[in-house]
Amino acid sequence: MNGIHLHPHDIIDEGTEKIFSLLNVMGDIQYIFPQVNTIFERNPYPKGILPHNPVHEFVQGEGTWHVPIKVKEIYENLYQKVDSSVQKGEDSIQLLKEGSSKTTFEIIPWLNLLNGDFQGNVANNGVVDFLGNEVEYWLCPNGPDVVPMWSKLISALTEKYGYTTYLIDRIRFPDWAGKQVNPKGIFSCFCSHCKKGMDSVGINIPVLIDTMNRVANHLKNQDFHYAVQTLFQSEVIKQWIQFRQDSVSNFVEDLLKEVQKVNSDIQLWLDLWPPSYAWLLGQDYERLTKASNTLKHFPYHKLGGGADVQGFIEFFADTPAKQEEAFQAFLTFFDLQYDITYETFREHGYPISFVKNENDKVRELSKANTNIFSGIQMWNIEEDHLIEALEAAENSDANDVLYYCYGWADEKLFSAVGKWNILKVK
Ligand SMILES: [Zn+2]
Repeated sequence: MNGIHLHPHDIIDEGTEKIFSLLNVMGDIQYIFPQVNTIFERNPYPKGILPHNPVHEFVQGEGTWHVPIKVKEIYENLYQKVDSSVQKGEDSIQLLKEGSSKTTFEIIPWLNLLNGDFQGNVANNGVVDFLGNEVEYWLCPNGPDVVPMWSKLISALTEKYGYTTYLIDRIRFPDWAGKQVNPKGIFSCFCSHCKKGMDSVGINIPVLIDTMNRVANHLKNQDFHYAVQTLFQSEVIKQWIQFRQDSVSNFVEDLLKEVQKVNSDIQLWLDLWPPSYAWLLGQDYERLTKASNTLKHFPYHKLGGGADVQGFIEFFADTPAKQEEAFQAFLTFFDLQYDITYETFREHGYPISFVKNENDKVRELSKANTNIFSGIQMWNIEEDHLIEALEAAENSDANDVLYYCYGWADEKLFSAVGKWNILKVK
């Protein structure tokens, strides 16, 4: 059965009855994934209005904590900024818990672990790029307070609401998107803990930084082909990618071990990037699926597979010819074998085959019998394209789909899914 993401403002502004009635129109929702802490994301993204929210036209996520749990008292060294709605007494998770008690929906709280507005000893836990700059709003999986903070928070959530399964998102190093496009954030992490770790596995850090500088210069000079070649040919870049993957896997394994010490029923489901990109950001499907039997990834075919590809291309390339060259280098680097121009991509995104290709790749990389949710874009899309994506997911090796997201979706899209499900049964 399928699932859908909810944001705190959906529950607070619309109420659970209204939400359930729209979800019931779809006819295929079993799991609801309500967000506990936000990221810096405009709702809806990147523009437009919330089509059925009676209170807000749009809501800007600020990377804050949204439920009444005393985060600073729970772990003083590191804690997330509490959203002002909590002071007003709002608790979307409690409302959902009460509202759903007589329904068959299953609630899986959704947590963003390494990206947000954190306070306390951020200097000792944050991500540092290859130039020595802090990457704003990102925690490092090797930061010493990150597992202790999250294990205490997850235990506190379980105690308060009784849920034992959580979807953990933003379990990776930074990508190039954020408040602004920041490609430097990819060449991370050089915090003291990562440097110590890289040193201990024999990574030559000066050579690594030198290689990254060379790649950065190629990109600055718009020599995209040389940038990709330099990355491919470098042994130290390979070692760095392996280190990143080990760092994220260790983080997830350690976190699971800690929370299960307190409550052995707790399970963590994974929210990952599509496999074509995930390896670069530190996500090793093969190892991570040994710690978790369920994952979601987002092959948004209309928007570049979750990645802000256009932001990245246009950050470096300033003419149509250079943008084309940069896009082709991008496709080569991520082994995305689609014969499309940048102009076509800008208009239509990847071809629909991206959905099946990425899902099949997930199946191939993951431990046997992993439950795979294929993320489905449910906003800024016409009904026929939504159905096309659902069909592609159904014809792939994914088990189910996870819609993103309730609040951004036009009401006609709920009906389109409902009609499609009825026709399927017949
Ligand atoms: Zn680090």
